[in-house]
Amino acid sequence: SARTTITFWRPMNLKNRKGALLIVSGPSGTGKGTIMDEYFKRYSGDNSFLSVSVTTRAPRCGEKEGVNYYYKTREEFEYLIANDGLAEWAEFCGNYYGTPKQPVMDMMSAGKDVILEIEVQGAMKVKKSFKDAACVFVLPPSFEELRRRLIERHTESTEVIDRRIERAKQEVLLIDNYDYILINDNLDAAVEAFRCIVKAEGQKVGKNINIINEVCGL
Ligand code: 5GP
Repeated sequence: SARTTITFWRPMNLKNRKGALLIVSGPSGTGKGTIMDEYFKRYSGDNSFLSVSVTTRAPRCGEKEGVNYYYKTREEFEYLIANDGLAEWAEFCGNYYGTPKQPVMDMMSAGKDVILEIEVQGAMKVKKSFKDAACVFVLPPSFEELRRRLIERHTESTEVIDRRIERAKQEVLLIDNYDYILINDNLDAAVEAFRCIVKAEGQKVGKNINIINEVCGL
């Protein structure tokens, strides 16, 4: 019964809450990264944690090992897959990307809200194993604007940009599987909306069973 479950969750040495798991997806160039950067700048005291992924893609100019990604060879990546080191992984435009499993589990059990910035295939895999993960999709104001942003970023060749735009159109088809939408036409508004989502997810009953038990003396 529900009461038995509540009693089971009573151990006193556990942290008071479980962290929420948020997945943020959206086409390349849509500004997910900028929204995340600004969110963490504004709300660094919020007890949330951005998972750092592993990838076989080469570092872009200015990117740092352990900050943007952990950069690996295909062999190293395949070793991680084989040894159950990843919570999910996917192939995206010719490279592997994956989420290291242990840090995510550790952060959530320490009561931190964990944010994964990952593409749609990976997001669907995470949703299967973490049913209460909240999925957020970030859209650009238009596809013309998306192309303009990708060109202006000067990080990809025209061929790669074309592939990423094609991919973006496929990704949008999966939007029905998501819970929330952010349209990134105004950075400030998008960051504030994102913060509301994180806060709401963290207030869910299922994340606060220990606090509830304490308050109610169960
Ligand atoms: P980029 O090469 O632009 O950094 O990333 C390409 C795409 O891969 C983006 O949509 C990004 O969100 C996604 N991505 C980054 N890390 C991961 C990951 O660990 N797993 C999955 N499935 N996708 C990721």
